[in-house]
Amino acid sequence: MAPGMDSGVERSLHPALRIARVEAMAISLPLARPVLMGGGQRIERSESLLVRIIAQDGRTGWGEASAAPTMTGETLGGMVAAVRDRIGPVLAGSDALRRLALDRRMAEAVPADTGARAACDAAVHDLVGQHLGVPVATLLGGALRGHVAVMHLLANPTLDEDLAEAASRAREGITLFKLKVGVKPVAEEIAVLSRMREHLGAGCGLCADGNTGMRRDDAIAYARAAGASGLLFLEQPLADDDLDGALAVAGERSVGLCADESAHSLRHVMDWHAAGAITGVNLKTLKLGGLTGLMRAATVADALGLHVNLACKAGESSVGTAALVHLGYCVPNLDWGITPSSHYLAEDIVRSPLRPDRGSLALPSAPGLGVCVDEAAVARFRIDPAA
Ligand SMILES: [Mg+2]
Repeated sequence: MAPGMDSGVERSLHPALRIARVEAMAISLPLARPVLMGGGQRIERSESLLVRIIAQDGRTGWGEASAAPTMTGETLGGMVAAVRDRIGPVLAGSDALRRLALDRRMAEAVPADTGARAACDAAVHDLVGQHLGVPVATLLGGALRGHVAVMHLLANPTLDEDLAEAASRAREGITLFKLKVGVKPVAEEIAVLSRMREHLGAGCGLCADGNTGMRRDDAIAYARAAGASGLLFLEQPLADDDLDGALAVAGERSVGLCADESAHSLRHVMDWHAAGAITGVNLKTLKLGGLTGLMRAATVADALGLHVNLACKAGESSVGTAALVHLGYCVPNLDWGITPSSHYLAEDIVRSPLRPDRGSLALPSAPGLGVCVDEAAVARFRIDPAA
């Protein structure tokens, strides 16, 4: 039994919501258009772990986490195996209403498999919300705001395409945009930033994400120029462990740094803040082991005075996006908006895919995550991760 757990609780909190079984499956969904990441990576499909938890009363909860090997070290096949062989046996027979206890048990079973745990933790939340007849946001403490600002990712091959897309999205009400940097020569990227600011005007928030792909000198040059363009933040320009480099960029004091790949645990968030390297963090459930871990990290980030952006991995379906939206309404310090992903997909696995509207995403009102999984679509996009 984990430290701090009381065996008497198991007896006192009945009626329990017993988990009968846990199923893990791999899916591959096509993106509407390829996404160019910082560092030159081109993404055309999104591969995710999908988890279905079935209670003894037949009720079902779903959760999702994208495979992000360079971020969490987990491959898609490894995530499926972690749920099947390690997490599933821990959850089977347990009371889903004791979400904090399940979070601890999963962390003990697979400490490093934060993506696999995230999908399971989301499925537990979906199941419990449906059982109690309340949205997941209510389980998280209830909404703190009436809308969430959606950050739109610009990752086209050319500046003209990015400018046209930004103008179109701005007309739809989007006020936050993210550029992918670390792809072109730095002088060109500085010029792109300047053109984008002229194009969008001062009313829109602009940030840039290097996805660890920039050279240190380039990151310093970009940060130096970014102040004039009113960049909200520069996200992860350098390698996840390059604290000295991050301090050199932060020393320019022209733009705040946001940790993404460097912030793959609460400990990292605290350490990078203590070093003075960051002014904010990008929090993802797949890095923090689920909604439970993300709420914990967001609370600490708030206490430390850090700004927060919540993000899906590029291409998570409306199942992963729904979890993000519920969190977006409930974390205390959502200064940098949310970055959902389902609207970048050509196909989704729910009956009514989630789409931004007037720069926000509505909080689903149905119990649980509030999305209805289309099992025929899941079957169509299911893959064998070992193949
Ligand atoms: Mg990022």
